Amino acid sequence: MDFGLKGKVALVTGASRGIGRAIADTLAAEGAEVLAVARSQFESEGLKTLQADLTDAASRKALMEEIGKRHKGLDILVHNVGGPKPTDVRQTSLSDWQEGFERLFLSVAHLNEGFVPGMVERGFGRIVCVTSLSIMEPIAGLAVSNGIRSAVTAMLKTLADEVAPAGVTVNCVAPGAIATERLADLMEARIARSGQSREDYERDYLKQIPAGRLGTPAEFASLVAYLCSTQAAYVTGSTICVDGGKRRSTY
Ligand code: NAD
Repeated sequence: MDFGLKGKVALVTGASRGIGRAIADTLAAEGAEVLAVARSQFESEGLKTLQADLTDAASRKALMEEIGKRHKGLDILVHNVGGPKPTDVRQTSLSDWQEGFERLFLSVAHLNEGFVPGMVERGFGRIVCVTSLSIMEPIAGLAVSNGIRSAVTAMLKTLADEVAPAGVTVNCVAPGAIATERLADLMEARIARSGQSREDYERDYLKQIPAGRLGTPAEFASLVAYLCSTQAAYVTGSTICVDGGKRRSTY
């Protein structure tokens, strides 16, 4: 299927590794002109790389100005950023909540403020936000993710209603367990806390996933590419999980 992405300008944030990198590579392989953002400089064939710290408002503003100099606007905006510090609710300090809000909510709201008006004006746009299964089933020890990703999902659902008549879609994609460095780090910490051997912990963890394995970043990115396609014009305001069946609810 031709997703109709040739020549479309796409911004993908958090794109130096993991899920964001796979999304950037997949959109580029489909013919999009991909602007790939991360905190530190990185090189990748087929991507135009840009540096910005998404937790910093001035850095986000500079990024938007830089893009504005070279492009009339964006056709595709993929919000992705490294996860917040893992804490229980009672360990989470005010500054942890503030950092998480800046990272997971304001980064999305600020980039939308910069790029959504142009999408509406031109009558086409695709916005996808990488969230987490935690918005449906809160995950122990990820207080900030559980709380703030739910807020950003509600905000984006509201935006989806507002911009649907203009041909702009807004969707969230929620990873369950996708094999990336972030997941490996979280697993290490959980194994250390569990007192189980690595083998036992991993066996028990995989038992909760009907597919019996972790997902790959490329599998995740394929769904994002579809949501960015011309064919997906009627899919908006949704959260879709990529979780090997892990989610227990029926919808
Ligand atoms: P990752 O840590 O492997 O990659 C994160 C990317 O974001 C990197 O490119 C990093 O450079 C970039 N980044 C981090 N902080 C940034 C900042 N302040 N400004 C700009 N870029 C920044 O993460 P991942 O596993 O690919 O996950 C992507 C997102 O999905 C994260 O928010 C994560 O919490 C969430 N998530 C992942 C899983 C999973 O199974 N991997 C599950 C649920 C949720």
